[in-house]
Amino acid sequence: MHLVFLGPPACGKGTQSAALVKKFGYYHLSTGDLMRKEIATDSALGKMLKKNIETGVLAASEIVNELLKKDIENNRQKSILFDGYPRKVDQAEYLDAVLKENKSTLKQVFYFDIDAEELFQRILSRITCKACEAVYNLQTNPPKEDGVCDSCGSHDLVKRGDDNEEILKNRIKSFYEETAPLREFYQKRGILTVIDARAPVEIVTEQIVNAL
Ligand SMILES: [Zn+2]
Repeated sequence: MHLVFLGPPACGKGTQSAALVKKFGYYHLSTGDLMRKEIATDSALGKMLKKNIETGVLAASEIVNELLKKDIENNRQKSILFDGYPRKVDQAEYLDAVLKENKSTLKQVFYFDIDAEELFQRILSRITCKACEAVYNLQTNPPKEDGVCDSCGSHDLVKRGDDNEEILKNRIKSFYEETAPLREFYQKRGILTVIDARAPVEIVTEQIVNAL
């Protein structure tokens, strides 16, 4: 059964997604990853997306919806964990419709609760493995050995390209303006679980697993 992770940039969604994938074999559907893949193909769609991401603006719903629908259809037999989607109420409605077409439905939505100021601190200390895309945080979730990726052993740990301050301000602002209202949307449906995202990584995982 399908889950949604709702939360602002750097709230720990990525790390928790990886934990659930490992524990329960969810298919991790990250619209951020789908968009990055599309950008890598250098298609017209990819070029538009690149511009959106570089300015910190949320990508247009139609583009993201198209990528999402294709990926849901390709993975319809699996339990899907949605990460980074939906970001707005119209996307939430679109997701319902696509799932219904695929004779499926959302089971549960997790909201990662954290305030903007704490996010800023986190974001500035976030790094990604260039080789395998594992995500670390120097404050909350550092690699076991300094500068070395736990998953693949690469020494190529870098700050992500979209991590500069101005873009982040925009992304966080977008989240609280456009995405946070989804908390109420899913609460009304009775499928929302609020997670204290300020807690250490293992405690957050525990909160999620206990609520499943
Ligand atoms: Zn790695």
